[in-house]
Amino acid sequence: MNSPTVRKVDMIIVGAGFAGLYQLHRARGLGLSVQLLEAGDGVGGTWFWNRYPGARCDVESLDYSYSFSEELQQEWNWSERYAPQAEILRYINHVADRFDLRKDIQFNTRVASASFDDASTRWTVVTQAGERFECQYLIMATGCLSIPQPPKFKGLESFKGQWYHSANWPREGVDFSGKRVGLIGTGSSGVQMTPVIAEQAAHLTVFQRTANFSVPAQNEPLTEATLAHVKAHYAERRALGREAVTGQYLSANDKSALEVNDEERLKEFEFRWRGAGGGFRMLRAFNDLMRNPVANKYAGDFVRGKIRATVKDPVKADILCPRPDLPFGTKRLCVDTNYYETFNRDNVGLVDVKAHPITEITPTGLRTTQGHHELDAIVFATGFDAMTGALLAIDIRGSGGQSLREKWAAGPRTYLGVSIAGFPNMFIIAGPGSPSVLSNVVHSIETHVDWITNFLERSRVQGTQRIEADLAHEDQWVDHVNEAANQTLYPVGNSWYLGANMPGKPRVFMPYVAGVPAYRRIIEGVAEKNYEGFMQA
Ligand code: NAP
Repeated sequence: MNSPTVRKVDMIIVGAGFAGLYQLHRARGLGLSVQLLEAGDGVGGTWFWNRYPGARCDVESLDYSYSFSEELQQEWNWSERYAPQAEILRYINHVADRFDLRKDIQFNTRVASASFDDASTRWTVVTQAGERFECQYLIMATGCLSIPQPPKFKGLESFKGQWYHSANWPREGVDFSGKRVGLIGTGSSGVQMTPVIAEQAAHLTVFQRTANFSVPAQNEPLTEATLAHVKAHYAERRALGREAVTGQYLSANDKSALEVNDEERLKEFEFRWRGAGGGFRMLRAFNDLMRNPVANKYAGDFVRGKIRATVKDPVKADILCPRPDLPFGTKRLCVDTNYYETFNRDNVGLVDVKAHPITEITPTGLRTTQGHHELDAIVFATGFDAMTGALLAIDIRGSGGQSLREKWAAGPRTYLGVSIAGFPNMFIIAGPGSPSVLSNVVHSIETHVDWITNFLERSRVQGTQRIEADLAHEDQWVDHVNEAANQTLYPVGNSWYLGANMPGKPRVFMPYVAGVPAYRRIIEGVAEKNYEGFMQA
């Protein structure tokens, strides 16, 4: 039997989302030969797959966009403050064309395994179709929210209607006109699609397990004047973003919620809820919202007050109000347009499936412990195997054949969120242990890609063949990430940040909470000290 051909390149990148595309661009700049492997048939990553009605970003597009090319940021015109999915996908396609990236991307290619050979210091990457690649550097640009959690409901196979998952939406769209639709899940995806489906469907029933907090996006079209102003001062906007805790400038208030009186506190929350504010600005209303339970409760009570003032049916309002044991913002804050208002429509129902759990899907609908709901279509907005799912879906074997699945059996461990001890010459972009999903992720991606590229440039000059995080430094970093999280209220939230949404997943707070500027100073300091904590040979 002939042995399969092996394609040899300097670098393999897995994933053609924001991270993979920028890494491809920068690696080419180093003169490396690169092959990018992408499971989908187009670029865009999360924006390629998540085409559900109402999908749009929750970080303003003027910030949630690449900053590396002045020409790019000058020529692209965002239409709205928070661009819809189709526009973001057009943007990513434009980037791929503008920088001529497609010629190094192989689509419809899912990576099955990657193994490191200590003797040659090269990785062998094998695709599900059995193709083999060999590379010196392996870059995992696989995304934090790319493995949907499959709906595991008894009887689903018997359902006679159509069902969909938010992250695997049919390309041609779905027409819910005249249909009775059931929507399971009220995280960011469910909250975004609820108002849009309600407009079209004959009837929508939202099945809510945990009431989460949602704040209005205050989305609006971007005027020519606004675009011209931002473009004239883009460098300043990006610089402010770099120094903001989330990598996006959001006028943070540096006061404690406890040092102001009731009137001032309310004024601040109102300001952030209304037109001039919106979105994640609410998290920056006071400097201790995510650290002090009393401060946090003020924010929670404010939003609960808004829910009760908006939703006319007091029973629905009560179900929608997050319980006191869920601190504000500790499950990822949802950013919506008309979410709570939608529950005032006659064709929208709400079922509390914590009080009355779903027992089964039937041929004609869904049954809870309280009764049966007749449905023509079911939408699952039930989330993802976040942060680790895409990495662990690939059988990754590092030095000495060590398995990543085994190494991470009790939760992810990284050095700086970018490297893993025992897995030489492999880097992860915006991975666990970095600000990642708690930040403007495009900003964090650029930070990581620039840092990795500089590291590789230097090691090529020095003739280094093998770069590997030192285990002791990794252990210290994991401790530091945990300590940082434990100084906040985040771990209380039982969220996907902790892996709590996946039955059986180890509970480890995965992102680094200390903020983008603090993190950048750490990784820049590491670079200045000859990449301290990395063994280089
Ligand atoms: P998610 O936040 O994990 O929400 C999943 C929802 O499904 C939760 O309400 C969850 O309830 C519910 N659920 C899961 N399994 C269930 C079951 N068996 N029965 C009943 N309910 C069940 O997922 P997501 O909404 O897709 O969002 C994930 C992340 O993607 C977001 O946090 C955000 O970072 C990102 N995202 C961003 C945007 C944006 O930029 N605007 C849009 C969409 C997503 P429990 O809370 O009780 O587990």
